[in-house]
Amino acid sequence: MAPIFEKIAILGLGLLGGSLALDLQHKKLSSQIYGYNRSPKNRGLALKRKACHQVFDSAKEAVKEADLVVLATPVDSMISLVQEIGPFLKPKTLLTDLGSTKASLVSQLPKLLPKGVYFLGGHPMAGSHQSGMAQARLDLFKEKFWFLCPNPQEEKKPIAKKLKNNFKKLIQKLGAKPVFLEAKAHDRLLANISHLPQMLAYALMHSQLNIDQGLGLAYAGSGFLDTSRLAASSPEMWIGIAKENQKPLLKALQNFSKSLNKIEKALERKDFKSLTKYFEEVSQERQKL
Ligand code: NAD
Repeated sequence: MAPIFEKIAILGLGLLGGSLALDLQHKKLSSQIYGYNRSPKNRGLALKRKACHQVFDSAKEAVKEADLVVLATPVDSMISLVQEIGPFLKPKTLLTDLGSTKASLVSQLPKLLPKGVYFLGGHPMAGSHQSGMAQARLDLFKEKFWFLCPNPQEEKKPIAKKLKNNFKKLIQKLGAKPVFLEAKAHDRLLANISHLPQMLAYALMHSQLNIDQGLGLAYAGSGFLDTSRLAASSPEMWIGIAKENQKPLLKALQNFSKSLNKIEKALERKDFKSLTKYFEEVSQERQKL
């Protein structure tokens, strides 16, 4: 049976893009996989690990024959990347991305595309604090939600329905669970359930560096290590997310500050009765997850 997309180009061969390429190869979901990455190291590794059939040192070379193009670079690099590749995309090509924020990309990227090319915003809820092609792995997307955020104007294009359904089928073959969501609603949700925990991990780690130059961290146990794990993530990726989702993230942080403040106030007042109630309430909710 012919693959859903014959030729797939992946721009950005890091953890996400590299894992996608490995999965597509392993499950034989495409006849050609082309890769592009800024750094030669990840390009070389993608070939060595047989994630791509061919890699290029220019994005436009990588996309010109593709019928599916996937952006897998930091979110704040995607607009300039699409400005570069736009003129080289074939009609009936589907452009999508794996970026962690959606509102600005879903509104801006379609404006940069030639007629006949369709954009569908995407975000798989898969990954880790690790980065780079060396960390890429099979089955990263298995059993994971994959948000799909269409642009309402793009939906009017005649090719939209077919390409959207084909992409949905492709990610289901990777074992992912597609969820359609409006882009701004996606960003508000993710500010709370993904971007906020990342900021808290950074702040937790930072707060300890101020105490005896962080010397006590050598004794940290699993509680601290689990809670601060995300602080080891790629700063390049997270600066991009903070820029793109600045307002929803600020709101999430302000809301979090209120919760933290309740603990501080109860401690100041030695109000252990209300603190117990607070702990019991959240412990019960956490156990349901
Ligand atoms: P990564 O750092 O592992 O990989 C990014 C790759 O892009 C690197 O190989 C880097 O060299 C390359 N790159 C950076 N700027 C580039 C540019 N301008 N042109 C070409 N290549 C460039 O990061 P990742 O975790 O694979 O994240 C990729 C995308 O996936 C990001 O948009 C991120 O928001 C999103 N995402 C990440 C996770 C996660 O947990 N890591 C989860 C979901 C979505």
